[in-house]
Amino acid sequence: MLFDSHCHFDFKDFDTDRTIILNNCAQKKVLALCIPGTTASRWQSIIHLAAAKRPISLYFALGLHPYFLEEHNASHLEALEQQLCQSPKHLIAVGEIGLDFYLDHLDRGQQESLFRAQVKIAKAHKLPIILHARKSHDQILKILRELHFQEGGIVHAWSGSEQQANRFIEIGFKLGFGGAITYPRATKLRHLAATLPLTCLVLETDAPDMAPAAFKGQRNSPEYLPLILDELCQLRPESAEIIARQTTQNTMDVLRIQSLQMP
Ligand SMILES: [Zn+2]
Repeated sequence: MLFDSHCHFDFKDFDTDRTIILNNCAQKKVLALCIPGTTASRWQSIIHLAAAKRPISLYFALGLHPYFLEEHNASHLEALEQQLCQSPKHLIAVGEIGLDFYLDHLDRGQQESLFRAQVKIAKAHKLPIILHARKSHDQILKILRELHFQEGGIVHAWSGSEQQANRFIEIGFKLGFGGAITYPRATKLRHLAATLPLTCLVLETDAPDMAPAAFKGQRNSPEYLPLILDELCQLRPESAEIIARQTTQNTMDVLRIQSLQMP
């Protein structure tokens, strides 16, 4: 079985065929998804999605994504605290949070203060975090160290160096690999996916974005997660069975899921 550790399954892209996709996932043994939060306005629909009876397990994180910086305000941080205190069913992390230094229009100072505030909240609630890191890995590591954050989590859509990977691994993070590794030109990333210890890797689709090469330019879907497994099998020495089992276990370990709640 496989676990899609990062899928924006609440997005309207899936409104017309969400049930069909979940059934397809079940057939393809993609038996769990983690849906990360993006803006406070979307949290309720995520909580709703995860609470309903489904053919596979849906988990989620709540947080304020740096990409939507202009939509966030201080009251959303209070709202995040309140939501976490209610500990809704299947809430497993704070996310998607982080720093995006790739996009120039996002103010770095504002991003940092939003990120720090959310790391502190995650720490207070003893929850792992789901990280969005673009050209900001060292800065994120510095902040996590300053705040003595020790709950671990997932750095989604890994795009850092080997040295940065090792530093995140040392402080209890797993690294998410998805559609990007299916593009032959991504040589550095493919090399890392091939050589990092299997115990540090988790699979993700990041759907509806980051479609694998076979579906380039189309909507991505969690049902394509087996393509990421296939690609890793091409790159790595382990069998498909071992990679599937270990990456699923890694996701469950870091998100502290004891056993999948099957329907
Ligand atoms: Zn995301």
